[in-house]
Amino acid sequence: MTQLAPDSPDPPLRLDRVPVRSLNRVGPKVAERLDKLGIRTVQDLLFHLPVRYQDRTRLTPIQDVQPGSEALVEGEILDAEIASGRRRSLKVWLGDVAGAGLLLRFFHFSPQQVASLKVGERLRCYGEVRQGPQSLEIVHPEYRLQRASDEGTGARLTPIYPSTEGLQQSSWRGLTDQALALMEQASPAELLPAGILASLGLPSLTEALAFLHRPPIETSLQELMDGRHPAFARLAFEELVAHQVSLRRMRLEQRGIAAPVLNGDGRLRRSLLAGLPFALTAAQERVVAEIAGDLTQTRPMQRLLQGDVGAGKTVVAALAALQALEAGCQAALMAPTELLSEQHHRSLGGWVRSLGIEPLWLAGRHKGREREERLEAIASGAARIVVGTHALLQDDVAFRDLGLVIVDEQHRFGVHQRMKLREKGGRDGGAPHQLIMTATPIPRSLAMTLYADLDLSVIDALPPGRTPITTRAVPDNRRDEVIERVRLACEAGRQAYWVCTLIEESEALECQAAEETARQLSERLPGQRVGLVHGRLKSQERDALMAEFAAGTLDLLVATTVIEVGVDVPNASLMIIENPERLGLAQLHQLRGRVGRGSVESHCLLLYHAPLSLVAKERLGIIRGSVSGFEIAERDLAIRGAGEVLGTRQTGAIQFRIADPLRDQPLVPAAQRAADRILSQHPELATPLVARWLGEREHYGQV
Ligand code: ADP
Ligand code: MG
Repeated sequence: MTQLAPDSPDPPLRLDRVPVRSLNRVGPKVAERLDKLGIRTVQDLLFHLPVRYQDRTRLTPIQDVQPGSEALVEGEILDAEIASGRRRSLKVWLGDVAGAGLLLRFFHFSPQQVASLKVGERLRCYGEVRQGPQSLEIVHPEYRLQRASDEGTGARLTPIYPSTEGLQQSSWRGLTDQALALMEQASPAELLPAGILASLGLPSLTEALAFLHRPPIETSLQELMDGRHPAFARLAFEELVAHQVSLRRMRLEQRGIAAPVLNGDGRLRRSLLAGLPFALTAAQERVVAEIAGDLTQTRPMQRLLQGDVGAGKTVVAALAALQALEAGCQAALMAPTELLSEQHHRSLGGWVRSLGIEPLWLAGRHKGREREERLEAIASGAARIVVGTHALLQDDVAFRDLGLVIVDEQHRFGVHQRMKLREKGGRDGGAPHQLIMTATPIPRSLAMTLYADLDLSVIDALPPGRTPITTRAVPDNRRDEVIERVRLACEAGRQAYWVCTLIEESEALECQAAEETARQLSERLPGQRVGLVHGRLKSQERDALMAEFAAGTLDLLVATTVIEVGVDVPNASLMIIENPERLGLAQLHQLRGRVGRGSVESHCLLLYHAPLSLVAKERLGIIRGSVSGFEIAERDLAIRGAGEVLGTRQTGAIQFRIADPLRDQPLVPAAQRAADRILSQHPELATPLVARWLGEREHYGQV
């Protein structure tokens, strides 16, 4: 550590420049492990906060320990033996003066341990108490032999850090001890103006960090764990401000970009509407108008279109695309998977072909000559509407005059990918307008935090004439009854889906399971025609099967979750979902949206495997109790983190380190005001703030 403490006051010590390797007990191995967690400097270490805390400051008398809770206990070893039952274990009986006893059980132990845990020794140990076969016990407690000279319990709560293999909690405590000592010499820069902090009653950064690493004993554990403590709020707030600053800078930058003005004469749009078998709903009319207005502006539209499954987003997208075409521009539609893009190509084709427009599909499977020809059609402008996946973002895809990009399923699309679209260029070096569609029901408040760089349009009502879906959860030991139910439905002339899911992330295994299920069901339902679709079929085969099902020549369609995307068969009124507990609520909701598209009442049976965990029970209850994607999302949010609900964790929408967009929602308005104030009055703080919290992810704002 000697190199850290220069004698001269110059240059000042900056913890964001001090590598962790300069700390004691950080060799190449530890440094590498820390690096895995993104910790390279002492400041990184300070921002690596505990996930939870333990109260090891209070000794619990052995007679008072409760199963299911963690406790610090002290006592004398009454007996110790190696038991050779089904699993060899070391059993140590601990007793106290009151005569109460507790069993400590070790399944892994060394000869030294056995030798040291002698009858008569005093032991202090910590761990989770549970009800064992004979008595209360702690398995693998942390323990220490007590000597008469040992002082009492600590004065602070014990932090537990998120860790990685090979780093013990004791190492974390040692490392953060050093970092906290250094922080006393050199605080990380305070990037929030004092006025803002004072008005919110929040502590300074240094106070907050010191507190969160070593909370004093009187701190409410509950408040800490819920993230409601002001020290926590201080950091969450700073992070929210950093994101708001970054998003605002992105917006400012966008304002400086020109976009083609798409003010066509409405001819194509009118023809499309005239040919539709239905009238737009009021909600569709409203969002169509919002989008149409944006497209006539000289700045690129950045709009998020939300609408539940089946809300009718496709026709809205088609109208927007036609508006671009009327103005002489091209339009592109991107979907996250090839299957979805294919589906869009087909449905869009259905809408616009009668207007003399043939959409072009570009996918990964187009290779060699075929790809060349397609690229040529895109570059020359011969292809007016182009449908594809991310493949459209590749460098060799050049448009002639791209006016509008429509992205389906935003939540699988990263912010930076969205930004990359700009490079695809509109006319005269401008950027294309962007419409992002999602069926993921993000509550409005959350959407404003996660997608603060987007305007929001919502289709908040389904087209008329849909009958509600009844959903029930059935344990899989009643599979026979469920199969009978399928038989009855099919005999009544209806069709059904049977959806197979698997724990393994292996497509091959999932397909195998589906094949097996299809075989069994064909056997059990001899009168019915059973089809099978899964991700390994060639797209032509899959299409053919779907077409048969749509035409009614198949009664039952066994499928993997591939049918999640856009199948529309109104006569299908029954869906069985196996192992629904393995799917996210959003995905379940999407799947279920495949039924209830016709005029008969539809049913969805969730065939679960008992016993369900409490959370799983609660989640299936949510699905059963609601058919509104928004309501489901709101309630799912309440029991899980936002990232999980939205599937954003893997997918590149904004991710927070400390803030929780749901929990910290009340802080958002203040964070927005603070961001404005920083940009106008303290612009020098903006860049370090964004760098601290978004780090390498900052680049997404600067394409
Ligand atoms: P999603 O929003 O899930 O993409 P789609 O655009 O696929 O929904 O629409 C679902 C179904 O509803 C389609 O069959 C579509 O033709 C139909 N639809 C769309 N708008 C209306 C409407 N206003 N009235 C009746 N049916 C509609
Ligand atoms: Mg759709």
